[in-house]
Amino acid sequence: MSCDTQYVIPNTRYGLRTHAQSNPNHHARPRLLGDGKLEMQLRPVPRPTQPDDVLVQIEACGICGTDLNILATPPAHKATPGIIIGHEGVGIVVDRGPAVKNLAIGDRVVIANRLTCGKCDYCRRGLDNQCTDYQTIGTTIDGAFAPYLMAPARALWQIDPSVPRDDAALFEPLACAVGSVKRAPFQPGDNVAIIGAGPMGLLFAQLYRTLGAGKIILIDVAPYRLEFALEMGMDAAIDASAVDVAAEVKRLTGLGADIVVDAVGNQFNQAIKLARRGGQVILFGIRPHDNPPVNQYTITRYDLTVHGTFVGLHPFAQTIQLLEARRLQPSALVTHRLPLTELAKGVELMRTQQAMKVLIEMDIR
Ligand SMILES: [Zn+2]
Ligand SMILES: [Zn+2]
Repeated sequence: MSCDTQYVIPNTRYGLRTHAQSNPNHHARPRLLGDGKLEMQLRPVPRPTQPDDVLVQIEACGICGTDLNILATPPAHKATPGIIIGHEGVGIVVDRGPAVKNLAIGDRVVIANRLTCGKCDYCRRGLDNQCTDYQTIGTTIDGAFAPYLMAPARALWQIDPSVPRDDAALFEPLACAVGSVKRAPFQPGDNVAIIGAGPMGLLFAQLYRTLGAGKIILIDVAPYRLEFALEMGMDAAIDASAVDVAAEVKRLTGLGADIVVDAVGNQFNQAIKLARRGGQVILFGIRPHDNPPVNQYTITRYDLTVHGTFVGLHPFAQTIQLLEARRLQPSALVTHRLPLTELAKGVELMRTQQAMKVLIEMDIR
């Protein structure tokens, strides 16, 4: 695949910075055009206009698979033209509206990017992740690939400044994994097979290792990802293009995996072959247009439990606690750190699997 993300930069980078430095009320940030392209623009730094607005000076923001999809040609994920994308941000509160009580200027915050309505039938049942009237920071409203983000206070979670910046930046994807993992009852020692050794699959792997899993087995077809999993200390990395994955998982586990995670989104039929009898399958990856056939007989005959999981239900407090306790270091996934002007390069590195996770660092000082 090729990345057609382009910048229309009205000035040199140096020129933009000079301009920004001479105009402290402005910041340069890429704005999404309608066709999955970006355009660098110099804009005024936003000021709180709503009582619950919080202005965050962004330190860094991770590039997510969602961003790759938004910037694909044609786009594979919807986003509102004109917005700033990016949702895996960490930053410092620098201004706030009068109604904000739980955050102070100087607080370190991370972003829970889905703003649910609180009023629809699903929100009223406590199923916030199924809200039918939500906004998403970085997809439908302005996000964090910018020196400054304005967000309502309820989208921000305070995190201790002692958590390294690059661990905090992975709060949102880690929260998705936390929300998914907690749906499948887990016992210490469970053997876990994870299909897809990209950033999400490896976050699941880190999380299960922290929880006390037995063997953790990653399955992928990309040599870069398989090697990465082994370098992280995972127990096995299986190349699905080269071996019979089900036979290999059985050889490694005896009966098959206690828990299987599909972090890809179209591997359901493979996943049910890797689970032991009575095991559990977590479906996490999303491929809206794939509709692979599934052998229903296997699920029934071998008593499998299948969990469809979407972004997690209230995973944020536990995710903060995990990061603050330093139980795992998601920053181990970060292979590249680039300035905002090289966002397109970062997207290309991830799309071509030359990078595991790219962080964009904001350089306004
Ligand atoms: Zn993300
Ligand atoms: Zn709702």
